[in-house]
Amino acid sequence: MQCPTCGIPLAETALYCAQCGAQVGEIVDLPAPKPWNRYALWGFAGAIVAPLCGLILCIYARKQCARRGERGERLAKAGIILSICTMVIYPILIVIGIGWYVFS
Ligand SMILES: [Zn+2]
Repeated sequence: MQCPTCGIPLAETALYCAQCGAQVGEIVDLPAPKPWNRYALWGFAGAIVAPLCGLILCIYARKQCARRGERGERLAKAGIILSICTMVIYPILIVIGIGWYVFS
């Protein structure tokens, strides 16, 4: 590649001429990172605090991520699994807790 202004040879990857400072390469903007889906974030947090709410939010978040192309699809999936786990574990813990209280 040559500088179109002053004619000196330049590297193929050069963006500016080292001698005259003219712009010679194409400056490509990096694509902005896609925003996180808020429902996925809240759904994941909700999976621990309020599993049913978390589950609903995560299911909704997955649909929204697919439609809008936002980040958080995998987080929402993890939230769904986590909320199902907590929905199973919490009643067991409550039963164990009551049993402990009654029989001790
Ligand atoms: Zn130049």
